[in-house]
Amino acid sequence: MRQKLVVFSGAGISAESGLATFRDNDGLWENHDVHEVATMGAWRANPALVQRFYNERRRQVRDASPNAAHEAIARLEDVFDVAVVTQNIDDLHERAGSSDVLHIHGQIVRSRSSVDSSLTYPIDGWELSMGELCEKGSQLRPDVVWFGESVPLMSEASRIVASADVFVVVGSSLQVYPAADLIYHVRPGVLKYFVDPAGPGTMESQGFEHIREKAAVGVPLLVERLLG
Ligand code: NAD
Repeated sequence: MRQKLVVFSGAGISAESGLATFRDNDGLWENHDVHEVATMGAWRANPALVQRFYNERRRQVRDASPNAAHEAIARLEDVFDVAVVTQNIDDLHERAGSSDVLHIHGQIVRSRSSVDSSLTYPIDGWELSMGELCEKGSQLRPDVVWFGESVPLMSEASRIVASADVFVVVGSSLQVYPAADLIYHVRPGVLKYFVDPAGPGTMESQGFEHIREKAAVGVPLLVERLLG
């Protein structure tokens, strides 16, 4: 039976693909205060600004390519039963070839009804406009989880993390909750790795081997070891 390897990724894994992280700039995300663009209050106050912000993120994601870290994670499927749990709203894991990816904070390439969260749709191109409606007649919003909203996929993500025989965290400040709590669902005795040039300084005391490299360097090195 193949071992189960779970990857938990954050914005840092996509940094070398040219997509900005969130916390590295003091809570400013691409020069916007997150409260003005990534909360329900922001959507109520100025939905057009929120759409513009996410349209720009979507255009950047479309123009970005997976990097060596995403690609190395996809190669792990040669040997392991791999599940990726990502905080990222980009689709770079899928485009690198990973076949099992759970986006706990949603997907920028999809839209969602603003009255019925079960209604989601692929977005054609990079732009979602005011006036585009779901089948129930309400405005479509990006299918992403905003700050202050609940994370409906948390229990599924916890179950996946608890099934890991090997657990790898890549490029996350582990400051965004409840997602950051996932690391506490790993079973005792499981091998744990953390690839991030910075991140919390306490990972070693929590049983992680902390590989202090950028993802595009550190992840391929780790994958070589795990496949070796
Ligand atoms: P974060 O911005 O809070 O933390 C980024 C982490 O990445 C830091 O620990 C930093 O040291 C590390 N990092 C920076 N460059 C790196 C590199 N080259 N290689 C490896 N690590 C690197 O990100 P987070 O913990 O994911 O939480 C922020 C939230 O913002 C997430 O929930 C996510 O949904 C959202 N977000 C997503 C994207 C995306 O989809 N690409 C981008 C920005 C923010």
